[in-house]
Amino acid sequence: MALGEFELIARYFQRNAAPRNPAVALGIGDDCALLQTTPGLPNALPPDAQLAISTDMLVEGQHFFPDVDPEALGHKALAVNLSDLAACGARPLAFTLALALPDSSAAREAWINAFTRGLFALADAHGCTLMGGDTTRGPLNICITAFGAVPTAQGRSQALLRSGAKPGDDIWVSGTLGDARLALLAIKAQRGDRANPGAARWLQLPPEMLKLARARLERPTPRVALGLALRGIANACMDLSDGLVGDLQHILEASRCGARLLAPMLSELLASHRLDGTALTSPERLSLVLSGGDDYELLFTAPTSRREAVATAATVANTPVTRIGQIEAQEGLRVVDAQGQRLAGRFASFDHFA
Ligand code: ADP
Ligand code: MG
Repeated sequence: MALGEFELIARYFQRNAAPRNPAVALGIGDDCALLQTTPGLPNALPPDAQLAISTDMLVEGQHFFPDVDPEALGHKALAVNLSDLAACGARPLAFTLALALPDSSAAREAWINAFTRGLFALADAHGCTLMGGDTTRGPLNICITAFGAVPTAQGRSQALLRSGAKPGDDIWVSGTLGDARLALLAIKAQRGDRANPGAARWLQLPPEMLKLARARLERPTPRVALGLALRGIANACMDLSDGLVGDLQHILEASRCGARLLAPMLSELLASHRLDGTALTSPERLSLVLSGGDDYELLFTAPTSRREAVATAATVANTPVTRIGQIEAQEGLRVVDAQGQRLAGRFASFDHFA
């Protein structure tokens, strides 16, 4: 059965029975969606707030494998956008979905069904409403734009930005790092990708370890509650999508400062390491954590005087955080060992164009 564009929208994207975020005055069906401010409702867009807006595009072959589980893909497509909202301390309101689909076969319809299941499960968990989009034929491509609310206080924005880090700040990271990269290396090795460095190595690892790593790659958890809890505490914040070293540079450049990272703290951050403490060497773990990517954790800085406030925010958000270093006045990034000695070697960030 070949579905027409409007049938497809009506059947899979227009959800009349679903709860709608109070900011969405008009959703799918007209030429524009309408967002409105509403005073006094916890999930709404308050009259004095700012709109936070973020777009991410996922392209088949570049950001996901063609045979990836569509339900996981639906989750991830929205998760990466919610992660951007979290990084700014924004509360999710609504999103749009621009979708290019290669065909309208029965198999594709089953794919869309699974994709939207993953998408809406995450959307509903965050009270974030699909309010519009576009559907067209073309190579599989998913583009989501998410809208969130950031309050102002006495006219000042409460948004968390990359530019606020100060020398002396602690550097913190949420959750765990490096597992998504580990999974990517293992999947590429399974597929016989010859350009994959040390491919055989990644296939030797215990299957349960690779399973956990794969879940981190395919179903990242956007740290929305932590982003909200860090407003007024963090000086700078961003989400990790390209790898710790490369992404931290963005904070350092925007804030005009440098940093020191503690290698012994970092090599413990791999979640799959907790399943099998001997499968990977410490340098292997360190390299995955430093130059991984696709982690979707929050990287933030806060004054040392706010350590208790950070711990409370982490508890409130039910999200673990780890202190991994310090912001310094001297520019550049230094990774040091337990004795404070600089590590040798260059840790490149994952770069789509490299
Ligand atoms: P227009 O031609 O005016 O851009 P469309 O015919 O493309 O409108 O879309 C009709 C309605 O369906 C619009 O409200 C649009 O926002 C919505 N829509 C289209 N595709 C999607 C999608 N993939 N997800 C959510 N809403 C969609
Ligand atoms: Mg259109």
